[in-house]
Amino acid sequence: LSDRLTSVFSSLRSKGRLSDADIDATCREIRIALLEADVALPVVKEFVARVKERARGVEVSQALNPAQQVVKIVNDELIEVLGGETRRLRYAKTPPTVIMLAGLQGSGKTTLAGKLAKWLRDQGHAPLLVACDLQRPNAVQQLAVMAERAGVAVYAPEPGNGVGDPVAVARQSLDHARRQQHDVVVVDTAGRLGIDQELMKQAADIRDAVTPDEVLFVLDAMIGQDAVSTARAFMDGVGFDGVVLTKLDGDARGGAALSVRHVTGRPIMFASTGEKLEDFDAFHPDRMAGRILDMGDILTLIEQAQKTFDEQEAAKMAGKLVSGDGFTLEDFLEQMMMVRRMGPIKNLLGMMPGMGQMRDQLNQVDDRDLDRIAAIIRSMTPGERQEPKIINGSRRARIAKGSGVTVTEVNNLVVRFFEAQKMMKRMTQGMGIPGMPGGRK
Ligand code: GDP
Ligand code: MG
Repeated sequence: LSDRLTSVFSSLRSKGRLSDADIDATCREIRIALLEADVALPVVKEFVARVKERARGVEVSQALNPAQQVVKIVNDELIEVLGGETRRLRYAKTPPTVIMLAGLQGSGKTTLAGKLAKWLRDQGHAPLLVACDLQRPNAVQQLAVMAERAGVAVYAPEPGNGVGDPVAVARQSLDHARRQQHDVVVVDTAGRLGIDQELMKQAADIRDAVTPDEVLFVLDAMIGQDAVSTARAFMDGVGFDGVVLTKLDGDARGGAALSVRHVTGRPIMFASTGEKLEDFDAFHPDRMAGRILDMGDILTLIEQAQKTFDEQEAAKMAGKLVSGDGFTLEDFLEQMMMVRRMGPIKNLLGMMPGMGQMRDQLNQVDDRDLDRIAAIIRSMTPGERQEPKIINGSRRARIAKGSGVTVTEVNNLVVRFFEAQKMMKRMTQGMGIPGMPGGRK
C-alpha cells in the first residue's frame, strides 16, 4: 500500500500545480488506503470529500510539491478528525468519580479496568474496582487478579449473598467507596458477544444506578468494519462519553478509530497495546493518523522538505542582511514579511553580533503596521521600489492616495527604509567580509 501511494505521489511530483484531476487521482488512492485500514465506507466517502475540498482551496506551496501537499492535507485532516488534542478524564467535583466500562465481550474491559486502576494510582488517586460482570463464571475472579496486580482494592459481591444483581452491586459500591475514601470508582460490566438487548438494558440500569462521570466504550481495534454498528448500538443502548481502543499491539491498522470517532462524535481517550498493565497510554491522534495512512516515510520526507525550505529562505535573508548590496524597498518588505512568518527569529537576530539594532528596528513593526507598509510599497512603481531616492513630494502624494494612507506615513516609511539601508552598509563594513561590496553607492 505504502508503495502504491508513493508511486502515485511521485507521478504527481513533476507537475507544477495540482489540478482537479490530480486531486481526484490521489484521492482514489487515499480511499483505497482507508478502506484497507478498515475505515467504514460511508466514513471514507465523507472524509475524502472533505480532503478534496480542502485541497482545492490551497495555494501551491513553495516548499512542497503538490503531491506532498495533498498528503499533508490528508494527514492534517485525519489528525483533526481523530480529535486534535487528547481529551482528559473528567473528575467529579464531589468524589468519588465514577467511570463505567461498556463494550462487547472480549473487547478488553476487565483488562482495561486493571490498567486504568494502575494509571490512576500512579497519579495519586485511590481507585476502587467494582465487579459488575456476574455473567461469566470467573469474571469476578479475573477482576480481583487485575486489582491485585495493580495494587488497588476491589469490590465484589460476596458469594451467596445477593449474588446475581449487578445493579445492586454497583449501587452498594459507591457507599463502600465513600466509607473507604476511594476517590475514583471503576465499574467493570458484563460484555456481550453480539448486540444483546437484555445485557444492554442491564448496562443501562447500572448506568442509572451510579450516574457515571464517564462511560467509556471499550472497542477492540481488530473488529474492523463492525466498529460502526457496534458503536451505534452502544451509543443508543447505554450512551458513552469516550472511547478506549484496545489490542492496538495487533496488526489492525486502526480504521475503527476513524469510523467510531466520525459516527459517534465521541473522543478516543486511551489506547491499549497489550495484556500487561503497562501497555496503556493516552490516545495520540497523530500516531493513529500515521498508522491508518501507513506512510510514515512520506511524512518524514515532507517534514524534511519543509525544513530545508525554511533554512534556505533564512539563508537567503541572512545573505541580503550581510551584504547590504542592492537593498531595495522590495527587500525591505520581504524581510519584514519573513520576520512575521518566522516569529521567533527576531530573537535570534538579537543574539547575532551586530544584529541587535536590526532587531529593534523590526520590533517596532507590528502586524497591522506591516499591512500598511505592504500597501504603501505596492502603490509604488517598480522604479520607485528599486530606487527610493526618486520618491519626491508629488510621488509621495500619489502613493499616499493610492494606498489610502497619509503623506506623513509615506514619509515615515521612506525615512525608515533609508535608516535600514544605512544600517546595512554599516553592518557590512563593520563585519568586513572580504569580497563583499560594502554598499550600493
Ligand atoms: P472483556 O471481556 O471485555 O472484559 O475483555 P478482557 O479484559 O477479559 O480481555 C479479553 C482478552 O483480550 C484477554 O485475553 C486479554 O488478555 C486480551 N486483551 C485485552 N486488552 C488487550 C490488548 O490491548 N492487547 C492484547 N494483545 N490483548 C488484550
Ligand atoms: Mg470482563
